[in-house]
Amino acid sequence: MKILLTNDDGVHAPGLKALAEAMTALGEVFVVAPDREQSAVGHALTLHHPLRANRIDENIFAVDGTPTDCVNLGIHSLLSFKPDIVVSGINRGANLGDDITYSGTVSAAMEATLMGIPAIAVSLVTSAEGTNYDAAAQFAVKLAAAAQKKGLPADTFLNVNVPDLPGERIRPPLVTIQGKRSYEGTIIDKVDPRGRNYYWIGTVDLNFKDIEGSDYHAVSRGHVSVTPLHLDLTNYNSIALLKKWDIF
Ligand code: MN
Repeated sequence: MKILLTNDDGVHAPGLKALAEAMTALGEVFVVAPDREQSAVGHALTLHHPLRANRIDENIFAVDGTPTDCVNLGIHSLLSFKPDIVVSGINRGANLGDDITYSGTVSAAMEATLMGIPAIAVSLVTSAEGTNYDAAAQFAVKLAAAAQKKGLPADTFLNVNVPDLPGERIRPPLVTIQGKRSYEGTIIDKVDPRGRNYYWIGTVDLNFKDIEGSDYHAVSRGHVSVTPLHLDLTNYNSIALLKKWDIF
């Protein structure tokens, strides 16, 4: 099995190292990752300047671009084969609910899905540096093996969040739905030393709605959360409603 890893915390991040080590149990591991932190860049693709890939080890490339760039470069140029699976992570911090639309980690898995390659995004639920990447990596190996054996549904990838707990304290994995959060009061509005206003989008507490069956509901109770995601954002329930507008 050939495995391509990437992330958005940068090629030297501890979560990626733990993942790379654990994944060798499944096959040959290749890393194509940003050369620096690229968290919250979403699905950004670099089009207006060239990219450089620096081979920093036999199977490890550092790219001066986004996670989506890395998947593109990896699959279309740096690797001479199509990987069997792409795993993105392990991210330092959760990717739950609506937050996934900002996530570089999740977007890298999304990009692989667009290319028809099975993909998994893995995040550690921590508000600090994170300590239990190894336990999360062990789960990622188990899940990747299962995905390889069973195959993922078409156009679908998995968004995984693992509580930052020692392996023996992590509760069993649950299949979940994408949760919801409230975003109020997250902008810090201050005045700089020269009297001009500045705004800083603040980090917020995990103020998610505690929806039964959601990703947040699972991880906040110590379970691993696995949410199957697809790229079709159409709200099918709204189509009939919209068609009733007199402009259509
Ligand atoms: Mn990140």
